[in-house]
Amino acid sequence: MVPDIRIPADLLPADGRFGSGPSKVRPQHLDALAATGTSLMGTSHRQAPVRSLVARLKEQLTTFFSLPDGYEVVLGVGGSTAFWDVATHGLVERRSQHLVYGEFTGKFATAATAAPWLEEPSLVRGEPGTLVAPEAVAGVDAYAWAHNETSTGVMAPVLRPAGVDDDALVLVDATSGAAGLPVDVAEADVYYFAPQKGFASDGGLWVALMSPRAVERAYRIGASDRHVPAFLDLPTAIDNARKDQTYNTPALATLFLMSAQLEWMLDLGGLDATVARTTASSTALYTWAEQATWATPFVTDPAHRSLVVGTVDLDPAVDCDTVLAVLRAHGVVDADPYRKLGRNQLRVAMFPAVDPDDVAALTRCLDFVAERL
Ligand SMILES: *Cc1c(COP(=O)(O)O)cnc(C)c1O
Repeated sequence: MVPDIRIPADLLPADGRFGSGPSKVRPQHLDALAATGTSLMGTSHRQAPVRSLVARLKEQLTTFFSLPDGYEVVLGVGGSTAFWDVATHGLVERRSQHLVYGEFTGKFATAATAAPWLEEPSLVRGEPGTLVAPEAVAGVDAYAWAHNETSTGVMAPVLRPAGVDDDALVLVDATSGAAGLPVDVAEADVYYFAPQKGFASDGGLWVALMSPRAVERAYRIGASDRHVPAFLDLPTAIDNARKDQTYNTPALATLFLMSAQLEWMLDLGGLDATVARTTASSTALYTWAEQATWATPFVTDPAHRSLVVGTVDLDPAVDCDTVLAVLRAHGVVDADPYRKLGRNQLRVAMFPAVDPDDVAALTRCLDFVAERL
């Protein structure tokens, strides 16, 4: 039973979408998509309208991330989950190390552990809500972690670890961190993400910003006798991306919405401006959670609290499912915790598209609801 609590309209956020993925898509961009009419949707991805969109996306990402010389934008179908399989097949040479501090970092580790052509990976584990650091291990040729662990709201620095083998690659899962967390992409060899989180688009694609060393590794493994399914073949994806294409059919609306969001973010002032926005949103959330008597930030170390996905534990007397149901009845949706974490928690996405004023409004709604439970 949803308690009969009516939140006054003037307390509500202007846009009530706080989901961590798919996340808020700006309505202006949906209107722009509809306005393309007959010129884009339903046309061939091998022809100019779609290829110029892919070319534009590559240019926008190059500018937005100030890509170092020689880095390439590569994309393919299947989202970040597919990219883990792409990486176990086509980037890890013999042995990887995974920092495991939540569900998503754990999934890549599981994929690498299950790959019979790789050695048992090195795993560095941390409790949910904490962060761990890479440990240099001889023979490890790829170090993997997530810029933002979406299941716990922990953010990690992107820094090339010291003391590792010369040819070791750094693979950073930035699915939810990209566009909202500061980064120097030169510190990673592969910085990969999907469009449905920080890029306010829809799911189904992976995008990887690859260093020359990573590209070279991909071609070297591609030329070896390791069997790689065509769908996961990284050299094929690189070859296609160079021609502004993908191996198989991409979702055109996803490409369009991602490009529209990038244009909006570049107009705002680029990555510095989007990080300023996520900083404003997350400061509002954590400041509120520290002051509220019935809520506490889940991540104890303030330096690890994510700017883009905030997790807040609730007092056992305030049931998160009840709070979420009241919010949902008012069009404020998806601030649900990651279910497998099993906590009485709220998880609030604060990607660049989310207005910091709306995060502040959400905290006022939460106070209003809690006082009446
Ligand atoms: C959402 C998410 C994924 C999975 O992305 P898909 O595109 O759904 O496969 C992977 N890693 C992180 C950190 C995520 O937040």
